[in-house]
Amino acid sequence: VTTEERILADIEQNSEAWENLLVLADDIGMRVAGSLGEIQARDFLLETFHRYGLDEVRLEPFEHMAWEPRKERLVIASEGEREIACRCSALSQSTPSEGVEGELVFLERCDAEELEVRFAEVKGRIIVAPYSPFARQLKTPLAARYDAMALLEYRNYAGQLQPARTCAFQSYGDLPVASISFEDAEYLKRLQQRRGSVRLRLNLDSHVERKESWNIVGELTGTEKPNEYLMIGGHYDSWHVGPGAIDNASGVVAVLEAARALAAQRQQLKRTARFVCFGVEESGLVGAWAYTRDHADELDDTLLMVNN
Ligand SMILES: [Zn+2]
Repeated sequence: VTTEERILADIEQNSEAWENLLVLADDIGMRVAGSLGEIQARDFLLETFHRYGLDEVRLEPFEHMAWEPRKERLVIASEGEREIACRCSALSQSTPSEGVEGELVFLERCDAEELEVRFAEVKGRIIVAPYSPFARQLKTPLAARYDAMALLEYRNYAGQLQPARTCAFQSYGDLPVASISFEDAEYLKRLQQRRGSVRLRLNLDSHVERKESWNIVGELTGTEKPNEYLMIGGHYDSWHVGPGAIDNASGVVAVLEAARALAAQRQQLKRTARFVCFGVEESGLVGAWAYTRDHADELDDTLLMVNN
């Protein structure tokens, strides 16, 4: 029986992946960076690394801008204050407490080329543009540069919620940004065609404060080359809109399961296997960047990174 066959048989018979997923997604649920769920997940992962017998189990702290949407409200002012569901984008600017009100303008991409042509329509207005294809974190500074009042992104496909996203990586957004569903964008398009102009009012309280987060690290020390590393990682934070079962509890339980199964075969590991559950991925890969800073002198000796 080869080592690989032993590992596969162990996983088939003894996998804890499903139970770990239930803890992260059902019991803890939402794990947005800066929340109580994030701390509960951190403690669970730390304890699980200990329970699986990893070496050097530790928290590696770093700072980040923890973001919390405290108010998210969008109304069609010109339709009797009719409300439309919206989601504040991570690290968005807040509006003044009374909100910002302006006429909407639909753009196809909200990229530099289009804004250059349509700058006169954009100034002082609320841009409504699709979530893709134009890179999400680039729309925000461009819309701000052309003096838009706010930016609303809509889902490109029917049957899904308002997309959650970060409007500016590792900095504050340059203007208020929120997202709406595909269906509500279609409704706004119909209204604009029938009424000629549509006025929206957006009210966002996007609270940001510096907080500490953590990468959770554990290892199986190599028997021959302990200073060479093979890494397996995944991020454990989620968005605020749900339990993040797929994104990324599923990836984290794969990291845990690899740790559990490889720990049973640790005498076979010539190099050090390092397992990392990264914090604060969603608002800009903050934990991953912190890792590369903290481990700069080991990167040349890191031969492989499997990201789940
Ligand atoms: Zn993710």
